[in-house]
Amino acid sequence: MKLNLTEIRKHVDTEADAYALMEKLRWADGVVCPHCGNHKAYFLNPKNGNSRATGPKKTMSQRRVWKCASCRKQFSVITGTIFHGTKVSLSIWLMVMVQMCSAKNGISAREVERMHGVTPETAWFMLHRLREAMKRDPLAGGIAGNDHRR
Ligand SMILES: [Zn+2]
Repeated sequence: MKLNLTEIRKHVDTEADAYALMEKLRWADGVVCPHCGNHKAYFLNPKNGNSRATGPKKTMSQRRVWKCASCRKQFSVITGTIFHGTKVSLSIWLMVMVQMCSAKNGISAREVERMHGVTPETAWFMLHRLREAMKRDPLAGGIAGNDHRR
């Protein structure tokens, strides 16, 4: 699938979908453990068969969690990336990232705020983080993370 807003809206319905898409982008050649770099990991099957709810309200996160076959640590596709620990839904991150890459003049915090219903502070923070990441690693910056290069 091509990575644009229409496609994301079509394929990403839940937060778990966003994780799955991110996995496809980041781990195109297979899952890699962000803790030790091992290539074998098991998907931890959540009870509903798709995703798991975490956080105090059990609504915010539907992280897809993996467990490394070597170091036995758990991780998700955003472990070690700029999205790690975010309170913003991953599907919104994906859309803003795509908008940033595709719009000729980028996207303003104001537009992010209006389109995705986030606060001005959140919009500014997201753009700031994405820009920083893209400076380091254009295009893939957002999703590439910095696996065991720390
Ligand atoms: Zn590992």
